[in-house]
Amino acid sequence: MKAVQVSKPGGNLEIVERPIPQPGRGQVRIKVEACGLCHSDVLVKEGHWPGIQYPRVPGHEIAGLVDAVGADVTLWKPGQRVGVGWHGGHCFQCDPCRRGDFMLCQFGKITGITFDGGYAEYMVAPAEAVALIPDDLPVAEAAPLLCAGITVYNSLRHAGALAGDLVAVQGIGGLGHLGIQYARQMGFRTVAIGRGKDKQALAQKLGAHEYVDTNAGAPAEALQKLGGARLILATAPDSKSISALVDGLAGNGKLLVVGAGVESLTVTPLQLIGGRKAIQGWPSGTAKDSEDTLRFSALSGVRPMIERYPLEKAAEAYDQMISGRARFRVVLTMS
Ligand SMILES: [Zn+2]
Ligand SMILES: [Zn+2]
Repeated sequence: MKAVQVSKPGGNLEIVERPIPQPGRGQVRIKVEACGLCHSDVLVKEGHWPGIQYPRVPGHEIAGLVDAVGADVTLWKPGQRVGVGWHGGHCFQCDPCRRGDFMLCQFGKITGITFDGGYAEYMVAPAEAVALIPDDLPVAEAAPLLCAGITVYNSLRHAGALAGDLVAVQGIGGLGHLGIQYARQMGFRTVAIGRGKDKQALAQKLGAHEYVDTNAGAPAEALQKLGGARLILATAPDSKSISALVDGLAGNGKLLVVGAGVESLTVTPLQLIGGRKAIQGWPSGTAKDSEDTLRFSALSGVRPMIERYPLEKAAEAYDQMISGRARFRVVLTMS
């Protein structure tokens, strides 16, 4: 099969021929039809995740067909349309697993990091990491929902906002353009926060009821004029911009951070205490959460905006993703 691998930290994305992998006990082989690129693929390419064994095939937004199953797999059978996301399986035995909180497994695997991912014609995943894709969702559009989509959908639905509440989505990019659609479809009064007037039309097309332009004044004040946000979903990893939103929260409001930045947020205890405000992070979710994400998307019409590249042009696709020019998710498709 053709695969695209990184052979050392800081190495290039190189296309290679490899044997088709065999599924072991409890594993499923997937014939990959589409694989989204995610900014976290940088961790593999640049070696920023500790313990990665090279060569490694990146990719954790995988959509395709079950091709073969290993021993003891009863849940899946060849021909089913399935996907795999960031969460690449769990141990079933650590304390979080024994509580059913598989996402927090202490020995959790990550697709495309712990084992080879979807920049390839075939890949193998643990059965518990596999999610069913609804028939009416095309694979190229399903793929980005398995990391970008689930991250915003699953965090939004667990954050405590109720139908009609004011929910702001900061950033109109790979995560944000999905976050706006989900917030609208979940019944929230949806406010998009972006930089510049030029993003307003798109934000409204995606479903935003209101648009806050951070160039036009302090966004926290603009949110307070709208009554204050019950929830602010921060998707763009710009800690300074995120910190500037805290005072836009209503009482009991929550700042929900999903854009993975490395700079410190700046917030004083006084900004949180009086209004009983909170800051929370959220990782993506399990395979079952992926199924919920995909089903909700099929039901409500939420779709990623994508740019397609053939597998052979993975390096070009990666550059487009890293440049920030992509609108908004880049997807590899296998012929
Ligand atoms: Zn990702
Ligand atoms: Zn575990």
